[in-house]
Amino acid sequence: MKDITYAAPRTIAELTGLLNDKGDRARILAGGTDIIVQVREGRRDIDALVDIKYIAEVNELAFDAAKGLVIGAAVPCCLIYENKEIAKAYPGLMDAVSLIGGIQIQSRASLGGNLCNASPAADGIPVLIALQGMCDIAGAKGTRSVPIEQFCTAPGKTVLQRGEFLVRFRFPPPKKHSGAAYLRFIPRNEMDIAVVGAGVWVQLDGAKCSAARIALAAVAPTPLLVSEAGTALVGTTLDDGALAKAASLAQAAAKPISDMRGDADYRRHLVGVLVKRALAIATDRARS
Ligand SMILES: Cc1cc2nc3c(=O)[nH]c(=O)nc-3n(C[C@H](O)[C@H](O)[C@H](O)COP(=O)(O)OP(=O)(O)OC[C@H]3O[C@@H](n4cnc5c(N)ncnc54)[C@H](O)[C@@H]3O)c2cc1C
Repeated sequence: MKDITYAAPRTIAELTGLLNDKGDRARILAGGTDIIVQVREGRRDIDALVDIKYIAEVNELAFDAAKGLVIGAAVPCCLIYENKEIAKAYPGLMDAVSLIGGIQIQSRASLGGNLCNASPAADGIPVLIALQGMCDIAGAKGTRSVPIEQFCTAPGKTVLQRGEFLVRFRFPPPKKHSGAAYLRFIPRNEMDIAVVGAGVWVQLDGAKCSAARIALAAVAPTPLLVSEAGTALVGTTLDDGALAKAASLAQAAAKPISDMRGDADYRRHLVGVLVKRALAIATDRARS
């Protein structure tokens, strides 16, 4: 491993200034569970790591039943699932944060790092999309917000421009009679990369579905929101036929590759299975 400088700015202004000066020769260090591995293995050639954990804004974790949920970009997964109020209000989010790596990884790894690493197979992203999350971005020229589904632009690439970084996620308050879920398929019981992941959210109005969102991992160059699959559920009672229709629309939208984890047909099959199962769990949660 070559020598790399380490900086730990205390403010957003200091951080954006540093990132602006160094451009793509610097990378942010949050939990380090992706970036340190990549640098050690020579998969990323950089001169500087910029630790964001001393910046107050990226450590914020706040839930308000009327305003919703704020998760700072560097908050480790374990702090999210250990918060009983948040765990109760967002069980679908808990599915994802409690399966990223093992306990040691979860005590460092952040959702911000999961998103900014922009792996098509990242487990955190589909349910963040399904829950209609927004990303707040800060840069030398100011701040902006983008929906999470627009953040990743290609494997390892994001909308972040020179000098910009992800500050936080924001989610709307959980509505009554709504539910979400995340499921992935991996060949082992844990500590593996998703062959396919499915994050879903449904909203009920009486017995019928009034809104739904379905997002997939590991079946396209970026995490994929399949809007038409969610729309197809609206007005249905989320019966088996409706779930099968949404699953088949998700399969049609998936553009999987074949690799050592599974071929494209296998992945497309898994999309159908996981979308139906995740929708059944989300529906149960919405009804309970
Ligand atoms: C043993 C092991 C098991 C794993 N298991 C899983 C798994 O099951 N599922 C899964 O999805 N992932 C898994 N991972 C990958 C990794 O743990 C996750 O992607 C994690 O969420 C990354 O978060 P981090 O805070 O460690 O990111 P870091 O490594 O600190 O950063 C990741 C990337 O994002 C950039 N970045 C971080 N924060 C910001 C920001 N705020 N603004 C701009 N850029 C930023 C960094 O510069 C870097 O390029 C595993 C990793 C290991 C080592």
